[in-house]
Amino acid sequence: MSSRQAPTLQFLGAAGTVTGSRYLLTSPSGRVLIDCGMYQGYKKWRELNWQPFPVPAASIDALVLTHAHLDHSGYIPALVAQGFTGPVYCSQATFELCEILLLDAAHLQEEEAAYRNRRGYTRHAPALPLFTVEQAHKALTLFKPLAVETEHDLDMARVSLYPNGHILGSCSVDVEVEGRHITFTGDLGRSNDLQMPAPLPPRYCDYLVTESTYGDRLHSQVDVEGIIANIVSITAARGGSVLIPSFAVGRAQLLIHILSKLKRAGRIPEMAIYLDSPMAIRATRTMRAHQDLSRFTAERVQQTTEDVEMVETADESEALASIQMPIIIISASGMATGGRVLHHLKRMLPQHRDCVLFAGYQAGGTRGAKLVAGDGVVKIHGREVSVKAQIESMDFLSAHADYEGLLDWMRQLPVAPKGCFITHGEPEAAGNLQRELREQLGWRAEVPELGESFEL
Ligand SMILES: [Zn+2]
Repeated sequence: MSSRQAPTLQFLGAAGTVTGSRYLLTSPSGRVLIDCGMYQGYKKWRELNWQPFPVPAASIDALVLTHAHLDHSGYIPALVAQGFTGPVYCSQATFELCEILLLDAAHLQEEEAAYRNRRGYTRHAPALPLFTVEQAHKALTLFKPLAVETEHDLDMARVSLYPNGHILGSCSVDVEVEGRHITFTGDLGRSNDLQMPAPLPPRYCDYLVTESTYGDRLHSQVDVEGIIANIVSITAARGGSVLIPSFAVGRAQLLIHILSKLKRAGRIPEMAIYLDSPMAIRATRTMRAHQDLSRFTAERVQQTTEDVEMVETADESEALASIQMPIIIISASGMATGGRVLHHLKRMLPQHRDCVLFAGYQAGGTRGAKLVAGDGVVKIHGREVSVKAQIESMDFLSAHADYEGLLDWMRQLPVAPKGCFITHGEPEAAGNLQRELREQLGWRAEVPELGESFEL
């Protein structure tokens, strides 16, 4: 067998959808999995979380993570539970955020399983968590943070991480195996993001695996601060409060920064701002510790710290319900699929005065997507809740490049790659990016199906 036998790249997730990123590179030197995400959104996708991993977990030698979001990292404890014992390589900040996210996900799943068992809402008796807190702790012992912008000669591949502007610690990943360079964009950030510096340009690669979350959309040039100021001011004027369901990592930190700025500038009324998510609070502390990786100055971070109250305990969270004056609550989860935000939604959705302001992309099938689409009734904790509150959506607050952003980043490649694969998008988004790549760059790109393999 030649040592230059072609590697194969297999798409084990994020094919036909935006979640469950898992890409397997197999070569004579070993097996490397890039990202190990959980599926979220529609049930048909979430059910895939419960299938055994398509290759034996013990046959994977190493894992490389682009960033901490659960749709890229959330299956790691389940993989470890199935026998994976290799290293998990990522940036230092990604490791710190994974400590927060994976433990929180494990807690939520244990709680959910216990709740289902108590209420008897389960077709499987007993309901089980996808992974436990103990399994998440075990997975975290395998993490090996790597310095960014440096080539690392690892046993089975040469790996480099380049910050890509999506969230704290996020990187695009270059893997070199058997003389082939394969670049994974990860979730590519925007060049004009308010929080993260622009993505570093791509390096030479033979093959490119690109995300396509916004593969069929262009972000409009919007005055984000003006829109938020307007919505908050109008709601407060009618005596209502604003609830912002937010992703705990990245988005929540951007929102508290914007709200603090608006308050100091007198562009919103004097009202209390609460960050009500234990996970978002921990992520905010991690972000402060790595302030140099963001666009925020130390002074700005200090001001935000002074202006936003952290709601640490469940009792403090419940006490927010008794405040009579207009307030702003930022709570997770961002798509209203779980977490403390659900209790606030149950209380606020039936109130005409209040406003629920969604702060990002809502995956199809989630409660957030239903509310943004205008559903008049949603189910929360098994109960029907009527929707009278004003519902607003800021899907322009994206931490993903749109298709022109993706193309502009790719144009910086010194030469066109031999092959390009489009993943991490709904079929229309992936299909449009495929067309744009052909028309604008003259590239032929594949949109792989789930499980499909390619020889490189
Ligand atoms: Zn992400």
